[in-house]
Amino acid sequence: MLPGTDAEERSAASGAPAASGKDGRRHCRRCLLRETDREGYFKNLYAYIDGLEEEIRAAEPVYRDRLDCCRQCDLLWDGMCRACGCFVELRAAVGTNRCPYGNW
Ligand code: SF4
Repeated sequence: MLPGTDAEERSAASGAPAASGKDGRRHCRRCLLRETDREGYFKNLYAYIDGLEEEIRAAEPVYRDRLDCCRQCDLLWDGMCRACGCFVELRAAVGTNRCPYGNW
C-alpha cells in the first residue's frame, strides 16, 4: 500500500493512528485483517516481535522450542492457534505466555 492510499485515508477518517514502516509505507493500526494487505500485516507483526523489550521476550532457544512444538500440533492453522486464536509466533515470543493446552 502506498502513502496516501486506503490505510491512511481510513486512518484519517476514523481518527485511528497510522504508523510508518521501515519501507516508509503507512499501515493503519485499526484495520481489520480483511482490510489490509497480507504482506504488510505480517511485516507489521514481525516488526512488533522484533521490537519486544528483552525483559519481556522469551529466550531464543525457548522461542524455537515453542515454535517446534506448535509445528507438531494439530491446532496450528496458517500460523494461528485454533485453541486461542493467537498467531503462535507472537504468543511464543513473550516469555510469560503459555500454550493454552499446556504444550509449552
Ligand atoms: S499454542 Fe499450543 S495449542 Fe496452540 S498451536 Fe501451539 S502447541 Fe498447539
